[in-house]
Order: sequence, then structure tokens, then C-alpha cells
Amino acid sequence: MLKITPYLGPSVLIVSIGGLWYPMLGYFLLLVMGTLLITSMFRGRWFCGNLCPRGSYFDYGIIKISKKKKIPKILSSMWVRIPAFAVMMAFMLYRISVTLAAQNTIELIGMIFVSMCLVTTLIGTILGGYFNARSWCNACPMGTMQRFIGGKKYQLKMDPESCVDCKKCEKVCPMELEVRDIGNNPDCIKCGRCVDICPKDSLTF
Ligand code: SF4
Ligand code: SF4
Ligand code: SF4
Repeated sequence: MLKITPYLGPSVLIVSIGGLWYPMLGYFLLLVMGTLLITSMFRGRWFCGNLCPRGSYFDYGIIKISKKKKIPKILSSMWVRIPAFAVMMAFMLYRISVTLAAQNTIELIGMIFVSMCLVTTLIGTILGGYFNARSWCNACPMGTMQRFIGGKKYQLKMDPESCVDCKKCEKVCPMELEVRDIGNNPDCIKCGRCVDICPKDSLTF
């Protein structure tokens, strides 16, 4: 995790709520999408664990009110993730194509991004308030896209010889992954929490 990671969360609220009055704030999403597209080519879902404002919002905001129930397995199933990705992309492209004919196109497109940010933040907040704070990140279309682009890059490695099976790594994993059997799990968000807490230095990237 980067030093800046804990401080990124408020930007989600600034875009989601402030954007209702200043639609141009919606273009912040383009910066986010562009950055995660580039980083995913080299580091898979690294962006999710280090630079995503919404990930930070979950880890340092929603976690304080979360009931922390286990993430439902269905959320990380491709039966949910692929339709969620397709619906979001289709909705965005449809709304943008309709808007292109209007006069104040730039502002209207900004508002499309704002509304997408607001709706997904609301869903993520409800899920994270009841289940694990990062529940949304199991189904998020941007997370799924990074998984497909660079899921095999920058993988976590475990040394079974030195591991003492204390399970500390699994207790801190925000994605509820089975860290000791991490293998090539493309949904690891490379946050490094497991690496930091391991008493035997058994985990490395
Ligand atoms: S899964 Fe989506 S919301 Fe979660 S950290 Fe990644 S890009 Fe952000
Ligand atoms: S396996 Fe480790 S690096 Fe990957 S998400 Fe879990 S805690 Fe973070
Ligand atoms: S924290 Fe380290 S020693 Fe403990 S179970 Fe995980 S990998 Fe093994």
C-alpha cells in the first residue's frame, strides 16, 4: 500500500455528491479508468489495493460501520461479474451516444459519469455496511477488467517451508482470499497487508 492510499477515499464523495452540482467533476472517472487500464497491464489489480479512491473509501471509511459478515461467494462469480461489466458499459455508451446530440454535451457526459459513480458507491456502501467492507470489489466491473487484462502479473508468492500456519495473513486480507493457498489468484489486489503481517516473511511479490 502507498502512503497516500488512506487519504484517497474522500474524493469518491466529492465526485458523487459535489458532481450533482458540478458535473465536470465526473471526468475524474476518466483519470481513474485510464490509470487502472495502464497499471493493470503490468500489475493486475494493483490499482485496487493502492490507488483506487473507492477502495480507500471502503478500507478506511465504510469499515468503521461495517457488520463485516462474510462476502457472499456469488459476488465473485463470473455469472455476476460479466453481466455487471456488460450492463455498466452498455449503459454508459448508450447514455453518451444519446447525449452527443445535445447542446451542452460536455456537462451532460460529466453528469453520466457522476451518476455512475453515485450509484455504484451507493451499492458498494450498502454491501460494505453489511458484509465485508470490500464486498463491492468482488463484483466491480473495473476490478473484473483489471483481472482480465493483467491477472497473471505481479503475483504473490508463498514459501510453504517457512510458513507456520498462523493464518494472520488471511485475517487481514480485505478480499477474504485464502492467502496460504494464494496460487495465482487474479483477484489479489496487491495491497501488501498479508506481506506486512507475516511473522516469517513467507510472502513476497
Ligand atoms: S474493484 Fe473497483 S471499486 Fe474496488 S478497488 Fe478496484 S476499481 Fe476500485
Ligand atoms: S492476498 Fe495479500 S496482497 Fe492480496 S489482497 Fe489479500 S492481503 Fe492484499
Ligand atoms: S502469516 Fe505467514 S506464517 Fe502465518 S499463515 Fe500466513 S504465510 Fe503462513
